[in-house]
Amino acid sequence: MIRAKLLSFTFAIMRVYKFGGASVKDANGVKNVANIIASNSRDLIVVISAMGKMTNAFEVLLKAYFENRKFDEAFSVIENYHREILSELGIISPAFESLLSDLKNHLTKKSSNHYNFEYDRIIGYGELMSTRIVSDYLTNLGLLHKWIDIRTVIRTDNNYRFAKVDWDKTVEQAQENFTVNQLYITQGFIGADADSNTTSLGREGSDYSAAILSYATHSEDVTIWKDVPGVLNADPRLFDDAVLIPELSYYDAIELAFFGAQVIHPKTIQPLKNKAIPLYVKSFVDQNLKGTKVDFQQATIEQPIIIIKDNQILLSIRTRDFSFVDEKNISTIFNLLSKYNAKVNLMQNGAISFSVVIDAIPMLFDALLKDLQADFEVRYNHHLKLITVRHYNTYSTEQLIGDKMIYLEQRSRNTAQYLVGDKS
Ligand code: ADP
Ligand code: ASP
Ligand code: MG
Repeated sequence: MIRAKLLSFTFAIMRVYKFGGASVKDANGVKNVANIIASNSRDLIVVISAMGKMTNAFEVLLKAYFENRKFDEAFSVIENYHREILSELGIISPAFESLLSDLKNHLTKKSSNHYNFEYDRIIGYGELMSTRIVSDYLTNLGLLHKWIDIRTVIRTDNNYRFAKVDWDKTVEQAQENFTVNQLYITQGFIGADADSNTTSLGREGSDYSAAILSYATHSEDVTIWKDVPGVLNADPRLFDDAVLIPELSYYDAIELAFFGAQVIHPKTIQPLKNKAIPLYVKSFVDQNLKGTKVDFQQATIEQPIIIIKDNQILLSIRTRDFSFVDEKNISTIFNLLSKYNAKVNLMQNGAISFSVVIDAIPMLFDALLKDLQADFEVRYNHHLKLITVRHYNTYSTEQLIGDKMIYLEQRSRNTAQYLVGDKS
């Protein structure tokens, strides 16, 4: 629940923009982003992710460091990637150099054995580096702006890797850091806890960062700039005939994001809806396209919306002593799911069994399983796909399922869901 105090004065930053990794994956990307910023450069907070797939590269580095293995190669991948972009942009960046040497310094110290804590200490360098590079490029173009370390604004708890926002403190710090009529460049994905340790908001969390800042500054709107023309009725990488949805309600948007439409991070919608701030999803390839507007509107969606989420695990949990899956057993199961930050996508229960579908949780699944097995009989299936079809009445879902086996199926008036996998 968001409980931030109302601000005592009207504080309206006009806009928040968010650019993801794909938009700044190379020098041309950075130039294009600079162009978009330059055409709207007053009263704007720009949130930027790590470049390209750099967060994955940082995860590789982190793993080597955490496991006390050699990390030189992983470090070079990161260093070279950014250096190439700097060189193609024709700029030097002392701030980037200093981040690089900070990082190297950090890696020479022994890691603690708290994986999530170490994760957050390292992963955020991706965002810090990318924003420094974009900022130095803007300076080179003569575009006046301020680079903000978002860790001085977004305050979270210390649930490293999955940090929760402290809304009151974040609103307060946003007031201290942002004023109107300025251009700000800052990082997505990260924040800091009360002890100033870096925290992160969950993978792909930069859309959410933009929404947090929009909420905290009462911005007029938020635009997330993507490599697609807006929200389509299916992922265009999987469906050639996907079409644009020009207007979407907060309600449809949160449902489709929750079930895995990668184009919007699911946590983005709540803060925006609570302040009635419209969200635009627009194409950074062609900024003149209208894109998708998400707000309270009630436009009827004509077409079915298809969302496919890979990497699902079905846990089939059964009581050992034939006791019912009652509130007590369900609560034991959910306490464990929560302990391991498992994201639940679907559930179903019988008399003595409980099926739950979760996202794969790297590094933690074995521990979760072990804990569950202490109390229950547990079977599981990996590598499943969750297919969600909203407004499915006009669509033949058989074609989606093909020759796959259905492990679990659920339908409501609006939504049909199938958990499918290869026939075993
Ligand atoms: P970012 O660069 O901000 O991290 P992402 O790559 O995470 O952006 O999200 C954009 C991608 O989301 C698109 O390239 C597209 O393939 C995918 N996508 C999945 N579902 C949809 C959908 N319903 N509409 C548009 N894009 C979608
Ligand atoms: N860079 C982070 C990630 O790749 C956050 C983001 O891009 O949204 O998960
Ligand atoms: Mg992304």
